[in-house]
Amino acid sequence: MIALVLAVSIPQMLHQIDARHTEKTVRTLVSFGTRNTLSTQDDPKRGIGAARDWLYQQFQDIAKTSDGRMTVELQTFEQQPGNRIPTATKLTNVVATLRGTDSPDRIYVVSGHYDSMCTSPTDAQCDAPGADDDASGVAAVLESARVMAPHKFDATIVFMAVAGEEQGLYGSTYFAKQAKEKNWNIDAMFTNDIVGNGTNTVRLFAESGGVISPAAGGENDGQSRQLARYIVETAHRYLPNFKVWMIWRRDRYLRSGDHVPFLDQGYPAVRFTEPNENYHHQHQNVRVEDGVQYGDLPEFDKFAYIANVARVNTAALASMALAPARPKDVHILTTRLTNDTDLEWTPNSESNFDHYEIVWRDTTAAVWTHSKAIGRDAKYAAKDMSKDNYFFGVRAVSRDGVKSPVSYPPPLRRTP
Ligand SMILES: [Zn+2]
Repeated sequence: MIALVLAVSIPQMLHQIDARHTEKTVRTLVSFGTRNTLSTQDDPKRGIGAARDWLYQQFQDIAKTSDGRMTVELQTFEQQPGNRIPTATKLTNVVATLRGTDSPDRIYVVSGHYDSMCTSPTDAQCDAPGADDDASGVAAVLESARVMAPHKFDATIVFMAVAGEEQGLYGSTYFAKQAKEKNWNIDAMFTNDIVGNGTNTVRLFAESGGVISPAAGGENDGQSRQLARYIVETAHRYLPNFKVWMIWRRDRYLRSGDHVPFLDQGYPAVRFTEPNENYHHQHQNVRVEDGVQYGDLPEFDKFAYIANVARVNTAALASMALAPARPKDVHILTTRLTNDTDLEWTPNSESNFDHYEIVWRDTTAAVWTHSKAIGRDAKYAAKDMSKDNYFFGVRAVSRDGVKSPVSYPPPLRRTP
């Protein structure tokens, strides 16, 4: 088979995303009866092993369209007994890596979890369809991989389906620790978890990323917040009728997700989730009680909605992987008392780098409101714009006009 490398068109990729594919993924994963992490791993029809093997095959088929750039791996490890793991259990993440052609060491990770649970997290026998939690997220990731694999991207994108989420984020924790040990430069991670049932809005959870300077502010400008703003901006550009609703929190009350182990390793990471969760349909034995249907069944998913979530993911991933890296070591110089703003950073070296943009906003604004193209120099003096009155940031722009996420400058006081 001859795989053609096509020029990347983000609108065309978004157009190719198909709700029939997201439906097929959800229904197939549900058909394995349960995907509990403790369920059988060697029955081809039932249990998490059947789901693992089917996903591996799907990613392998997608990889055939990538002209060798995508490789698929089963990342298997033995999880020792712990919370919700009564005996040592083999866990497997299904990981498809689409290698970048210019900056392969810059990595973007997108994931969903393919394990599921019924009312009891350690019941490996009960039916646990997990259509929304989280076959929907896996369906979005698989569909993004399908439309992106034929195209060349400058940076590397890792598409993955992880296990052990319901037992305690074990699969994503293993991946994030391995990445840190290997010193991988993961510049953004998103998890899609419970993205099956909505209309025209998806929530995007993004933690602060820490207080950068109590005196100067910056508590809303950690890298996960910049990532969230970037996703909102790209979604608005390519999907103007679909709203990405930023929530400035790590996650919902009492809940967690696969972005958290990445945050714990110091990587920027955010979570997509539908806006109105129905707890009758999550972590429930399938049953009818007082005329109410309980259970995470496919009839409560909206496959066109999952397709739109896949479009939001794809637009942001493609933009980041086609853009130069966000500028590194950006600082705002605070040595002099002045009404100007002096910024400097480390020059970008990507072959598609074209120029920089300065962005700014009022200190109380949620998103960047202004931008200005500047040259190729890794410094800028904003004359008569006081660093005391605005927040500033810097981003890099490619020759095709694709922009990186923004880097926020912490203050640097240099001894004169
Ligand atoms: Zn989940």
